[in-house]
Amino acid sequence: MAPNELELLNWLLERGLPEAKSFAHQVERIRASRWCTCGCPSISLHVEENVPTGTCSQSVISDFVGLTPDGKKCGVLLFQKAGKLILLEAYQQDPIDGTWGFPVISSLQRFEDVGQVFVKDPQTGRFIQSNSQFRKDSC
Ligand SMILES: [Zn+2]
Repeated sequence: MAPNELELLNWLLERGLPEAKSFAHQVERIRASRWCTCGCPSISLHVEENVPTGTCSQSVISDFVGLTPDGKKCGVLLFQKAGKLILLEAYQQDPIDGTWGFPVISSLQRFEDVGQVFVKDPQTGRFIQSNSQFRKDSC
């Protein structure tokens, strides 16, 4: 796992749902592999077999939006399944061509705090109801 990926993962675990901290010990010997070929930086996470599982009722345990090193809007989601970290997904909110990187940590804001900003319809100025519409663009 690349140092910047590890740093981001630890950051997301500290600031995600309260239960996210119960997964923190899994990071120590975690491995990552490319999850997608579209150009996004999303990675699958592989936790060792005998590592104690975390506890969370939701699959997304951390949910932030920010800017890539090139200043494009994107989001990151950290997923768990059956108590193990399984996926660090990045999705784009600005159109991004080619290969891009995980957001800069200093740019990250909680999705709940800023989600509405991103779903404001530029045509009408009204807020679009569903926050999830942008996530359908993720791969
Ligand atoms: Zn992708």
